[in-house]
Amino acid sequence: MTRPLNDPLPETCGDVRGQAAGALRHRRAGEKACAPCAEAIRQYRREWRRNRQPAESRERYLQLARARNRAFKRLADAHKAEFQRLLLHEQRRELEKAATR
Ligand SMILES: [Zn+2]
Repeated sequence: MTRPLNDPLPETCGDVRGQAAGALRHRRAGEKACAPCAEAIRQYRREWRRNRQPAESRERYLQLARARNRAFKRLADAHKAEFQRLLLHEQRRELEKAATR
């Protein structure tokens, strides 16, 4: 009998069966998680949602990030030529990195 394509293999999660890590192994293998791994990843996500930062502190983080971006923009305006040179350098590095992947 043939297995449906998306069926989890019991050996995919192996020694981390029933853990979030097992669910990630299933996902990397392109299959759905087995029941114990699926339950583990649900539990992991529940914990993650419960522990993430409250909205107020996220808003504060965003405020500080906006201030930081404005400061970068002012720095770039005050040192246009140097900023252009650094930008081109970093863009070239990024493209080279992508080319060697
Ligand atoms: Zn599993």
